Amino acid sequence: MAAKEFDIPVLPTYIEIPEINEGIMEGDGPFKSSKEFQNPLGFPGEKVDNWQEVAIEKMGELKSKYRSVQVFLDSCVKCGACTDKCHYFLGSSDPKNMPVARQDLFRSVYRRHYTFAGKYFPKLVGAKELDDEMLDDWYNYFHQCSQCRRCSVFCPYGIDTAEISMAAREVLDAVGVGQKYCNQILGKAITIGNNLGLPEPALRDTLLDLEEEIEEETGIAVKYPLDVKGAEILLITPSADFFAEPHIDGLIGYGKVFHEDGVSWTMSSYASEGANFGMFIGSYDIMRKAALRIRKAALDLEVSRVMVGECGHAWRVAYSFWNTLTGVGAGATDEFGLKLQNQLDSRYPQPQHIIEYTHDLIQRDKLKFDKSANDDRTVTFHDSCNVARATNMGGIPNGQFILPREVLKAVCNNYIDMERSTIKESTFCCGGGGGLLTDDLMEIRIKGAMPRMQALKEVEKTNGVDTLVAICAICKSQFSKVLPKFDFDPYMIVSAHQLVSEAIIMEKPQTDDSATEEVAEETTE
Ligand code: SF4
Ligand code: SF4
Repeated sequence: MAAKEFDIPVLPTYIEIPEINEGIMEGDGPFKSSKEFQNPLGFPGEKVDNWQEVAIEKMGELKSKYRSVQVFLDSCVKCGACTDKCHYFLGSSDPKNMPVARQDLFRSVYRRHYTFAGKYFPKLVGAKELDDEMLDDWYNYFHQCSQCRRCSVFCPYGIDTAEISMAAREVLDAVGVGQKYCNQILGKAITIGNNLGLPEPALRDTLLDLEEEIEEETGIAVKYPLDVKGAEILLITPSADFFAEPHIDGLIGYGKVFHEDGVSWTMSSYASEGANFGMFIGSYDIMRKAALRIRKAALDLEVSRVMVGECGHAWRVAYSFWNTLTGVGAGATDEFGLKLQNQLDSRYPQPQHIIEYTHDLIQRDKLKFDKSANDDRTVTFHDSCNVARATNMGGIPNGQFILPREVLKAVCNNYIDMERSTIKESTFCCGGGGGLLTDDLMEIRIKGAMPRMQALKEVEKTNGVDTLVAICAICKSQFSKVLPKFDFDPYMIVSAHQLVSEAIIMEKPQTDDSATEEVAEETTE
Protein backbone atom coordinates (compact mmCIF):
# COMPACT_ATOMS: atom_id res chain seq x y z
CA MET A 1 0.00 0.00 0.00
CA ALA A 2 1.54 3.34 -1.06
CA ALA A 3 1.86 5.84 1.79
CA LYS A 4 -0.44 8.85 1.44
CA GLU A 5 1.21 12.25 0.93
CA PHE A 6 0.49 14.73 3.70
CA ASP A 7 1.80 18.02 5.04
CA ILE A 8 3.79 18.11 8.28
CA PRO A 9 1.95 20.53 10.59
CA VAL A 10 3.53 23.96 11.00
CA LEU A 11 4.22 24.72 14.65
CA PRO A 12 2.21 27.77 15.75
CA THR A 13 3.26 30.13 18.57
CA TYR A 14 0.09 29.21 20.43
CA ILE A 15 -2.18 26.22 20.02
CA GLU A 16 -5.39 27.38 18.36
CA ILE A 17 -8.57 25.52 17.45
CA PRO A 18 -8.05 24.51 13.81
CA GLU A 19 -10.48 25.15 11.00
CA ILE A 20 -12.46 22.00 10.37
CA ASN A 21 -11.34 19.75 7.53
CA GLU A 22 -14.09 17.18 7.21
CA GLY A 23 -12.86 13.73 6.18
CA ILE A 24 -9.17 14.62 6.00
CA MET A 25 -8.23 11.57 8.08
CA GLU A 26 -10.69 9.19 6.44
CA GLY A 27 -9.10 5.98 5.23
CA ASP A 28 -8.66 2.29 5.75
CA GLY A 29 -6.96 2.62 9.13
CA PRO A 30 -3.91 0.58 10.15
CA PHE A 31 -3.05 -2.81 8.60
CA LYS A 32 -5.57 -5.43 9.59
CA SER A 33 -4.59 -8.53 11.45
CA SER A 34 -4.65 -11.88 9.61
CA LYS A 35 -5.76 -15.29 10.81
CA GLU A 36 -2.19 -16.03 11.86
CA PHE A 37 -2.33 -13.28 14.53
CA GLN A 38 -6.06 -13.37 15.32
CA ASN A 39 -6.54 -17.05 16.11
CA PRO A 40 -3.88 -17.43 18.85
CA LEU A 41 -5.70 -14.68 20.77
CA GLY A 42 -9.03 -16.43 20.37
CA PHE A 43 -10.42 -13.98 17.79
CA PRO A 44 -11.97 -14.98 14.43
CA GLY A 45 -9.39 -15.00 11.63
CA GLU A 46 -11.52 -12.84 9.35
CA LYS A 47 -14.71 -10.78 9.40
CA VAL A 48 -17.46 -13.22 10.38
CA ASP A 49 -20.57 -13.57 8.19
CA ASN A 50 -23.03 -12.51 10.91
CA TRP A 51 -20.73 -9.70 12.10
CA GLN A 52 -23.53 -7.21 12.89
CA GLU A 53 -25.24 -9.66 15.23
CA VAL A 54 -21.95 -10.58 16.91
CA ALA A 55 -20.99 -6.91 17.32
CA ILE A 56 -24.30 -5.86 18.90
CA GLU A 57 -24.20 -8.81 21.25
CA LYS A 58 -20.62 -7.94 22.24
CA MET A 59 -21.65 -4.32 22.89
CA GLY A 60 -24.36 -5.60 25.22
CA GLU A 61 -21.87 -7.81 27.03
CA LEU A 62 -19.42 -4.92 27.47
CA LYS A 63 -22.02 -2.48 28.75
CA SER A 64 -23.05 -4.98 31.40
CA LYS A 65 -19.48 -6.00 32.30
CA TYR A 66 -17.99 -2.50 32.42
CA ARG A 67 -20.47 -0.20 34.15
CA SER A 68 -18.24 2.77 33.31
CA VAL A 69 -18.79 2.25 29.58
CA GLN A 70 -22.57 2.48 29.95
CA VAL A 71 -22.30 5.52 32.24
CA PHE A 72 -20.00 7.26 29.74
CA LEU A 73 -22.36 6.45 26.86
CA ASP A 74 -25.42 7.72 28.73
CA SER A 75 -24.08 10.85 30.40
CA CYS A 76 -22.64 13.10 27.66
CA VAL A 77 -24.56 16.39 27.49
CA LYS A 78 -22.76 17.65 24.37
CA CYS A 79 -21.31 20.63 26.23
CA GLY A 80 -18.33 20.73 23.86
CA ALA A 81 -15.66 21.16 26.53
CA CYS A 82 -13.63 18.25 25.15
CA THR A 83 -13.75 19.18 21.47
CA ASP A 84 -10.39 21.00 21.27
CA LYS A 85 -8.54 18.86 23.84
CA CYS A 86 -7.42 15.98 21.64
CA HIS A 87 -3.99 16.27 20.06
CA TYR A 88 -5.21 14.31 17.04
CA PHE A 89 -7.94 16.84 16.37
CA LEU A 90 -5.58 19.78 16.96
CA GLY A 91 -3.01 18.23 14.62
CA SER A 92 -5.32 16.85 11.93
CA SER A 93 -8.39 19.16 12.00
CA ASP A 94 -10.65 16.19 11.23
CA PRO A 95 -13.85 16.73 13.27
CA LYS A 96 -14.22 12.99 13.86
CA ASN A 97 -11.08 13.31 15.98
CA MET A 98 -12.93 15.52 18.46
CA PRO A 99 -13.39 13.28 21.51
CA VAL A 100 -17.16 13.71 21.60
CA ALA A 101 -17.44 12.88 17.90
CA ARG A 102 -15.23 9.83 18.35
CA GLN A 103 -17.45 8.66 21.23
CA ASP A 104 -20.56 9.29 19.11
CA LEU A 105 -19.42 6.73 16.54
CA PHE A 106 -19.97 4.13 19.26
CA ARG A 107 -22.74 5.93 21.15
CA SER A 108 -25.02 6.25 18.12
CA VAL A 109 -25.03 2.45 17.65
CA TYR A 110 -25.44 1.88 21.38
CA ARG A 111 -28.47 4.21 21.34
CA ARG A 112 -30.04 2.38 18.39
CA HIS A 113 -29.86 -0.99 20.09
CA TYR A 114 -29.83 -0.34 23.81
CA THR A 115 -32.08 2.68 24.49
CA PHE A 116 -35.84 3.07 24.23
CA ALA A 117 -35.65 6.36 22.33
CA GLY A 118 -33.03 5.01 19.93
CA LYS A 119 -35.13 1.94 19.11
CA TYR A 120 -38.34 3.86 18.38
CA PHE A 121 -37.24 7.40 17.42
CA PRO A 122 -33.69 6.88 16.11
CA LYS A 123 -33.48 10.14 14.12
CA LEU A 124 -34.52 12.22 17.12
CA VAL A 125 -31.64 10.98 19.28
CA GLY A 126 -28.95 10.47 16.66
CA ALA A 127 -29.17 6.67 16.83
CA LYS A 128 -27.59 4.82 13.89
CA GLU A 129 -27.24 1.30 12.54
CA LEU A 130 -23.94 -0.49 12.54
CA ASP A 131 -23.44 -0.85 8.80
CA ASP A 132 -20.25 -1.38 6.77
CA GLU A 133 -19.56 2.34 6.60
CA MET A 134 -19.89 2.71 10.37
CA LEU A 135 -17.67 -0.30 11.03
CA ASP A 136 -15.00 1.19 8.73
CA ASP A 137 -15.24 4.48 10.63
CA TRP A 138 -14.85 2.65 13.93
CA TYR A 139 -11.75 0.86 12.70
CA ASN A 140 -10.20 4.02 11.30
CA TYR A 141 -11.04 6.55 14.04
CA PHE A 142 -10.68 4.29 17.07
CA HIS A 143 -7.14 3.74 15.80
CA GLN A 144 -6.67 7.51 15.84
CA CYS A 145 -7.14 7.57 19.62
CA SER A 146 -4.10 6.87 21.76
CA GLN A 147 -6.31 6.30 24.82
CA CYS A 148 -4.40 9.14 26.48
CA ARG A 149 -7.36 10.33 28.64
CA ARG A 150 -6.57 14.04 28.17
CA CYS A 151 -10.15 14.73 27.10
CA SER A 152 -11.50 13.21 30.32
CA VAL A 153 -9.61 15.79 32.41
CA PHE A 154 -11.66 18.57 30.80
CA CYS A 155 -15.03 16.80 30.68
CA PRO A 156 -17.32 17.99 33.51
CA TYR A 157 -18.65 14.41 33.75
CA GLY A 158 -15.24 12.77 33.57
CA ILE A 159 -16.22 10.83 30.45
CA ASP A 160 -13.20 8.81 29.39
CA THR A 161 -12.99 8.34 25.62
CA ALA A 162 -10.12 5.90 26.17
CA GLU A 163 -12.54 3.36 27.67
CA ILE A 164 -14.94 3.76 24.75
CA SER A 165 -12.05 3.33 22.36
CA MET A 166 -10.99 0.14 24.17
CA ALA A 167 -14.57 -1.18 24.03
CA ALA A 168 -14.82 -0.43 20.30
CA ARG A 169 -11.58 -2.27 19.63
CA GLU A 170 -12.84 -5.21 21.67
CA VAL A 171 -15.97 -5.38 19.49
CA LEU A 172 -13.83 -5.11 16.34
CA ASP A 173 -11.69 -8.05 17.45
CA ALA A 174 -14.81 -10.07 18.27
CA VAL A 175 -16.05 -9.75 14.68
CA GLY A 176 -12.63 -10.61 13.22
CA VAL A 177 -11.45 -7.10 12.32
CA GLY A 178 -8.37 -6.72 14.52
CA GLN A 179 -5.29 -4.55 14.19
CA LYS A 180 -2.14 -6.29 12.97
CA TYR A 181 0.40 -4.33 15.05
CA CYS A 182 -1.18 -4.96 18.45
CA ASN A 183 -2.33 -8.52 17.86
CA GLN A 184 0.94 -9.70 16.35
CA ILE A 185 2.84 -8.27 19.32
CA LEU A 186 0.43 -9.78 21.84
CA GLY A 187 0.90 -13.22 20.31
CA LYS A 188 4.66 -12.98 20.94
CA ALA A 189 4.21 -11.57 24.44
CA ILE A 190 1.96 -14.36 25.65
CA THR A 191 3.90 -17.22 24.02
CA ILE A 192 7.56 -16.12 24.18
CA GLY A 193 7.37 -13.56 27.00
CA ASN A 194 8.23 -10.32 25.24
CA ASN A 195 6.96 -8.15 22.40
CA LEU A 196 10.07 -8.75 20.32
CA GLY A 197 9.93 -12.52 20.37
CA LEU A 198 13.42 -12.50 21.92
CA PRO A 199 14.24 -16.00 23.25
CA GLU A 200 16.21 -16.61 26.46
CA PRO A 201 19.66 -17.23 24.84
CA ALA A 202 19.45 -14.00 22.82
CA LEU A 203 18.41 -12.04 25.89
CA ARG A 204 21.21 -13.54 27.96
CA ASP A 205 23.79 -12.66 25.26
CA THR A 206 22.47 -9.11 25.03
CA LEU A 207 22.82 -8.62 28.78
CA LEU A 208 26.33 -10.11 28.82
CA ASP A 209 27.38 -7.73 26.04
CA LEU A 210 25.97 -4.86 28.05
CA GLU A 211 27.93 -5.88 31.15
CA GLU A 212 31.16 -6.03 29.11
CA GLU A 213 30.49 -2.63 27.59
CA ILE A 214 29.87 -0.99 30.99
CA GLU A 215 32.91 -2.62 32.57
CA GLU A 216 35.08 -1.41 29.69
CA GLU A 217 33.73 2.11 30.09
CA THR A 218 33.68 2.43 33.90
CA GLY A 219 36.04 -0.30 35.12
CA ILE A 220 33.21 -1.54 37.36
CA ALA A 221 31.46 -4.90 36.93
CA VAL A 222 27.82 -3.79 36.95
CA LYS A 223 25.71 -6.94 36.56
CA TYR A 224 22.45 -7.49 34.62
CA PRO A 225 21.26 -10.74 36.24
CA LEU A 226 18.78 -13.03 34.51
CA ASP A 227 16.69 -15.76 36.18
CA VAL A 228 18.45 -15.54 39.54
CA LYS A 229 16.42 -17.49 42.08
CA GLY A 230 16.19 -15.85 45.48
CA ALA A 231 17.04 -12.33 44.30
CA GLU A 232 15.25 -9.63 46.28
CA ILE A 233 13.91 -7.60 43.34
CA LEU A 234 12.37 -8.79 40.07
CA LEU A 235 12.62 -6.02 37.49
CA ILE A 236 9.95 -6.03 34.78
CA THR A 237 10.90 -3.59 32.07
CA PRO A 238 9.81 -2.98 28.45
CA SER A 239 11.79 -5.17 26.06
CA ALA A 240 12.84 -2.06 24.12
CA ASP A 241 15.21 -1.44 27.07
CA PHE A 242 17.26 -4.48 26.03
CA PHE A 243 18.51 -3.19 22.73
CA ALA A 244 17.01 0.00 21.31
CA GLU A 245 18.32 3.56 21.59
CA PRO A 246 17.67 5.58 23.71
CA HIS A 247 15.99 2.94 25.92
CA ILE A 248 19.09 0.87 26.66
CA ASP A 249 20.83 3.84 28.27
CA GLY A 250 18.00 3.78 30.80
CA LEU A 251 18.65 0.10 31.52
CA ILE A 252 22.31 0.93 32.05
CA GLY A 253 21.15 3.51 34.59
CA TYR A 254 18.90 1.04 36.46
CA GLY A 255 21.82 -1.40 36.75
CA LYS A 256 24.13 1.27 38.14
CA VAL A 257 21.54 2.29 40.74
CA PHE A 258 21.00 -1.34 41.86
CA HIS A 259 24.78 -1.79 42.00
CA GLU A 260 25.28 1.26 44.17
CA ASP A 261 22.46 0.23 46.49
CA GLY A 262 24.01 -3.23 46.74
CA VAL A 263 20.60 -4.92 46.43
CA SER A 264 20.21 -8.34 44.76
CA TRP A 265 17.99 -8.16 41.70
CA THR A 266 17.11 -10.07 38.58
CA MET A 267 15.20 -9.99 35.36
CA SER A 268 13.24 -12.97 34.05
CA SER A 269 13.57 -14.64 30.66
CA TYR A 270 10.05 -16.05 31.07
CA ALA A 271 8.49 -12.62 31.79
CA SER A 272 10.81 -10.33 29.88
CA GLU A 273 8.22 -7.70 28.98
CA GLY A 274 6.74 -4.83 30.95
CA ALA A 275 4.47 -3.65 28.13
CA ASN A 276 0.99 -5.14 28.04
CA PHE A 277 -0.88 -4.38 24.82
CA GLY A 278 -3.91 -6.26 26.16
CA MET A 279 -4.99 -2.92 27.61
CA PHE A 280 -4.89 -1.21 24.21
CA ILE A 281 -7.25 -3.74 22.62
CA GLY A 282 -9.52 -3.57 25.66
CA SER A 283 -9.19 -7.25 26.53
CA TYR A 284 -9.00 -7.97 30.23
CA ASP A 285 -8.50 -11.69 29.50
CA ILE A 286 -5.48 -11.14 27.26
CA MET A 287 -4.08 -8.49 29.60
CA ARG A 288 -4.33 -11.14 32.33
CA LYS A 289 -2.60 -13.80 30.23
CA ALA A 290 0.37 -11.47 29.74
CA ALA A 291 0.40 -10.43 33.41
CA LEU A 292 0.26 -14.04 34.65
CA ARG A 293 3.72 -14.65 33.17
CA ILE A 294 4.97 -12.04 35.63
CA ARG A 295 3.24 -13.77 38.52
CA LYS A 296 4.77 -17.11 37.56
CA ALA A 297 8.23 -15.56 37.25
CA ALA A 298 7.90 -13.87 40.66
CA LEU A 299 6.78 -17.13 42.30
CA ASP A 300 9.44 -19.26 40.58
CA LEU A 301 12.24 -16.83 41.38
CA GLU A 302 10.97 -16.38 44.95
CA VAL A 303 11.56 -12.61 44.87
CA SER A 304 10.22 -10.38 47.61
CA ARG A 305 9.76 -7.23 45.51
CA VAL A 306 8.47 -6.55 42.00
CA MET A 307 9.66 -3.40 40.25
CA VAL A 308 8.66 -1.79 36.95
CA GLY A 309 11.05 -0.02 34.55
CA GLU A 310 10.38 3.09 32.47
CA CYS A 311 7.17 2.30 30.55
CA GLY A 312 3.99 4.37 30.75
CA HIS A 313 1.19 1.90 30.09
CA ALA A 314 3.14 -0.91 31.82
CA TRP A 315 3.08 1.19 34.97
CA ARG A 316 -0.64 1.79 34.53
CA VAL A 317 -1.34 -1.93 34.16
CA ALA A 318 0.94 -2.70 37.13
CA TYR A 319 -0.34 0.11 39.35
CA SER A 320 -4.05 -0.24 38.56
CA PHE A 321 -4.59 -3.86 37.57
CA TRP A 322 -1.80 -6.16 38.78
CA ASN A 323 -3.40 -6.53 42.20
CA THR A 324 -6.45 -8.37 40.89
CA LEU A 325 -4.70 -9.79 37.82
CA THR A 326 -1.72 -11.30 39.60
CA GLY A 327 -1.63 -10.73 43.34
CA VAL A 328 1.12 -8.11 43.19
CA GLY A 329 -0.73 -5.86 45.62
CA ALA A 330 -3.90 -6.73 47.53
CA GLY A 331 -6.92 -7.97 45.59
CA ALA A 332 -6.33 -11.41 44.08
CA THR A 333 -8.35 -14.16 45.68
CA ASP A 334 -7.11 -17.25 43.85
CA GLU A 335 -4.52 -19.66 45.27
CA PHE A 336 -1.46 -18.35 43.38
CA GLY A 337 -2.41 -14.70 43.83
CA LEU A 338 -2.67 -15.23 47.59
CA LYS A 339 0.62 -17.14 47.60
CA LEU A 340 2.34 -14.24 45.87
CA GLN A 341 0.84 -11.71 48.26
CA ASN A 342 2.28 -13.68 51.16
CA GLN A 343 5.66 -13.95 49.45
CA LEU A 344 6.10 -10.24 48.72
CA ASP A 345 7.58 -7.96 51.37
CA SER A 346 4.85 -5.66 52.66
CA ARG A 347 7.37 -3.05 53.80
CA TYR A 348 7.76 -1.95 50.18
CA PRO A 349 5.21 -0.71 47.63
CA GLN A 350 4.13 -3.67 45.48
CA PRO A 351 4.66 -3.00 42.65
CA GLN A 352 7.21 -0.20 42.82
CA HIS A 353 8.32 2.04 39.95
CA ILE A 354 12.06 2.36 39.28
CA ILE A 355 11.66 6.14 39.68
CA GLU A 356 10.19 5.61 43.17
CA TYR A 357 13.12 3.37 44.03
CA THR A 358 15.81 5.78 42.79
CA HIS A 359 13.99 8.72 44.37
CA ASP A 360 13.90 6.94 47.73
CA LEU A 361 17.65 6.22 47.56
CA ILE A 362 18.30 9.89 46.76
CA GLN A 363 16.17 10.99 49.71
CA ARG A 364 18.13 8.68 51.98
CA ASP A 365 21.44 9.96 50.61
CA LYS A 366 22.40 6.52 49.34
CA LEU A 367 23.43 7.74 45.88
CA LYS A 368 26.11 10.33 45.02
CA PHE A 369 26.01 12.39 41.84
CA ASP A 370 28.23 14.71 39.90
CA LYS A 371 25.52 16.92 38.42
CA SER A 372 28.05 18.73 36.25
CA ALA A 373 28.21 15.57 34.10
CA ASN A 374 24.91 16.79 32.63
CA ASP A 375 25.92 20.46 32.38
CA ASP A 376 26.00 20.27 28.58
CA ARG A 377 22.24 19.75 28.65
CA THR A 378 19.18 21.89 29.31
CA VAL A 379 16.50 19.40 30.21
CA THR A 380 12.71 19.27 30.12
CA PHE A 381 10.34 16.44 31.07
CA HIS A 382 7.47 14.99 29.07
CA ASP A 383 4.78 13.55 31.38
CA SER A 384 3.64 10.33 29.72
CA CYS A 385 -0.16 10.02 29.58
CA ASN A 386 -0.66 6.74 31.40
CA VAL A 387 1.68 7.71 34.23
CA ALA A 388 0.20 11.21 34.50
CA ARG A 389 -3.52 10.46 34.28
CA ALA A 390 -3.83 6.90 35.54
CA THR A 391 -1.25 6.29 38.26
CA ASN A 392 0.59 7.70 41.22
CA MET A 393 4.11 7.50 42.58
CA GLY A 394 5.39 7.72 46.11
CA GLY A 395 1.92 7.51 47.66
CA ILE A 396 1.61 11.30 47.81
CA PRO A 397 -0.83 13.52 45.89
CA ASN A 398 0.66 14.32 42.47
CA GLY A 399 3.66 12.11 43.25
CA GLN A 400 3.72 10.98 39.61
CA PHE A 401 4.63 14.57 38.64
CA ILE A 402 6.85 15.36 41.63
CA LEU A 403 9.11 12.29 41.84
CA PRO A 404 10.44 12.21 38.25
CA ARG A 405 11.19 15.95 38.40
CA GLU A 406 12.98 15.60 41.74
CA VAL A 407 15.11 12.77 40.34
CA LEU A 408 16.01 14.87 37.29
CA LYS A 409 16.84 17.91 39.41
CA ALA A 410 19.09 15.73 41.58
CA VAL A 411 21.17 14.71 38.56
CA CYS A 412 21.29 17.84 36.41
CA ASN A 413 21.64 21.56 37.00
CA ASN A 414 19.60 22.89 34.09
CA TYR A 415 15.95 21.88 34.24
CA ILE A 416 12.95 23.77 32.90
CA ASP A 417 9.30 22.76 32.51
CA MET A 418 7.27 23.25 29.35
CA GLU A 419 4.18 25.48 29.41
CA ARG A 420 1.87 24.55 32.32
CA SER A 421 -1.19 23.69 30.19
CA THR A 422 0.85 21.04 28.32
CA ILE A 423 2.31 19.10 31.25
CA LYS A 424 1.29 17.11 34.34
CA GLU A 425 -2.43 16.19 34.27
CA SER A 426 -2.87 18.23 31.05
CA THR A 427 0.10 16.67 29.28
CA PHE A 428 -0.14 16.20 25.53
CA CYS A 429 0.37 12.67 24.25
CA CYS A 430 3.53 11.92 22.25
CA GLY A 431 1.19 10.86 19.43
CA GLY A 432 2.19 7.18 19.36
CA GLY A 433 0.49 5.65 22.41
CA GLY A 434 -2.45 3.25 22.67
CA GLY A 435 -1.22 0.81 20.01
CA LEU A 436 -0.54 3.46 17.34
CA LEU A 437 3.25 3.07 17.27
CA THR A 438 3.34 1.50 13.83
CA ASP A 439 4.64 2.91 10.55
CA ASP A 440 1.27 2.39 8.83
CA LEU A 441 -0.10 5.10 11.15
CA MET A 442 2.72 7.56 10.56
CA GLU A 443 0.47 10.35 9.31
CA ILE A 444 -1.67 10.48 12.45
CA ARG A 445 1.42 9.98 14.64
CA ILE A 446 3.10 13.03 13.15
CA LYS A 447 -0.03 15.17 13.17
CA GLY A 448 -0.86 14.10 16.72
CA ALA A 449 2.63 15.01 17.93
CA MET A 450 2.12 18.64 16.91
CA PRO A 451 0.89 20.04 20.28
CA ARG A 452 3.78 18.42 22.21
CA MET A 453 6.28 19.63 19.58
CA GLN A 454 4.85 23.16 19.81
CA ALA A 455 5.44 23.33 23.58
CA LEU A 456 8.91 21.87 23.13
CA LYS A 457 9.76 24.42 20.44
CA GLU A 458 8.83 27.24 22.81
CA VAL A 459 11.24 26.09 25.56
CA GLU A 460 13.89 25.43 22.95
CA LYS A 461 13.58 29.04 21.71
CA THR A 462 13.20 30.66 25.13
CA ASN A 463 15.39 28.53 27.39
CA GLY A 464 17.68 26.61 25.06
CA VAL A 465 16.18 23.20 25.97
CA ASP A 466 18.06 20.50 24.07
CA THR A 467 17.13 17.36 26.03
CA LEU A 468 13.68 15.82 26.33
CA VAL A 469 13.24 13.18 29.03
CA ALA A 470 10.47 10.57 29.06
CA ILE A 471 9.82 7.54 31.27
CA CYS A 472 7.87 5.61 28.66
CA ALA A 473 9.21 3.26 25.99
CA ILE A 474 6.48 4.23 23.52
CA CYS A 475 7.11 7.97 24.00
CA LYS A 476 10.84 7.45 23.47
CA SER A 477 10.33 5.46 20.24
CA GLN A 478 7.71 7.87 18.94
CA PHE A 479 9.83 10.96 19.66
CA SER A 480 12.90 9.42 17.99
CA LYS A 481 10.81 9.21 14.79
CA VAL A 482 8.85 12.46 14.90
CA LEU A 483 11.39 14.94 16.37
CA PRO A 484 13.28 15.36 13.06
CA LYS A 485 10.00 16.05 11.25
CA PHE A 486 9.73 19.19 13.38
CA ASP A 487 13.42 20.17 13.00
CA PHE A 488 14.61 18.77 16.33
CA ASP A 489 17.58 16.50 16.91
CA PRO A 490 16.21 12.91 17.14
CA TYR A 491 18.80 12.13 19.82
CA MET A 492 17.47 14.77 22.20
CA ILE A 493 15.02 12.21 23.65
CA VAL A 494 16.53 10.27 26.55
CA SER A 495 15.50 8.05 29.47
CA ALA A 496 15.40 9.57 32.96
CA HIS A 497 17.85 6.87 34.06
CA GLN A 498 20.25 7.85 31.27
CA LEU A 499 20.78 11.16 33.04
CA VAL A 500 21.02 9.27 36.35
CA SER A 501 23.61 7.01 34.74
CA GLU A 502 25.68 9.91 33.45
CA ALA A 503 25.81 11.70 36.81
CA ILE A 504 26.05 8.79 39.27
CA ILE A 505 29.34 8.40 41.15
CA MET A 506 30.14 4.70 41.36
CA GLU A 507 31.67 3.98 44.74
CA LYS A 508 30.62 0.41 45.48
CA PRO A 509 33.17 -2.37 44.84
CA GLN A 510 32.61 -5.03 42.18
CA THR A 511 29.79 -7.53 42.55
CA ASP A 512 30.63 -11.05 43.73
CA ASP A 513 29.53 -13.24 40.79
CA SER A 514 29.08 -16.39 42.84
CA ALA A 515 26.17 -14.83 44.73
CA THR A 516 24.12 -14.24 41.61
CA GLU A 517 24.63 -17.31 39.49
CA GLU A 518 21.98 -19.66 40.74
CA VAL A 519 19.63 -20.08 37.82
CA ALA A 520 15.94 -20.62 38.56
CA GLU A 521 14.66 -24.14 38.24
CA GLU A 522 11.54 -24.65 36.15
CA THR A 523 8.42 -24.91 38.27
CA THR A 524 4.85 -24.76 37.16
CA GLU A 525 1.76 -23.16 38.54
S1 SF4 B 1 -8.34 9.71 24.90
FE1 SF4 B 1 -6.75 11.10 24.06
S2 SF4 B 1 -6.54 10.43 21.93
FE2 SF4 B 1 -8.49 9.60 22.66
S3 SF4 B 1 -10.03 11.15 22.13
FE3 SF4 B 1 -9.34 11.62 24.23
S4 SF4 B 1 -7.71 13.14 23.94
FE4 SF4 B 1 -8.01 12.13 21.96
S1 SF4 C 1 -16.86 17.35 27.63
FE1 SF4 C 1 -17.90 15.45 28.27
S2 SF4 C 1 -20.08 15.98 28.37
FE2 SF4 C 1 -19.06 17.63 27.21
S3 SF4 C 1 -19.22 16.97 25.06
FE3 SF4 C 1 -17.27 16.17 25.78
S4 SF4 C 1 -17.74 14.09 26.50
FE4 SF4 C 1 -19.70 15.17 26.32
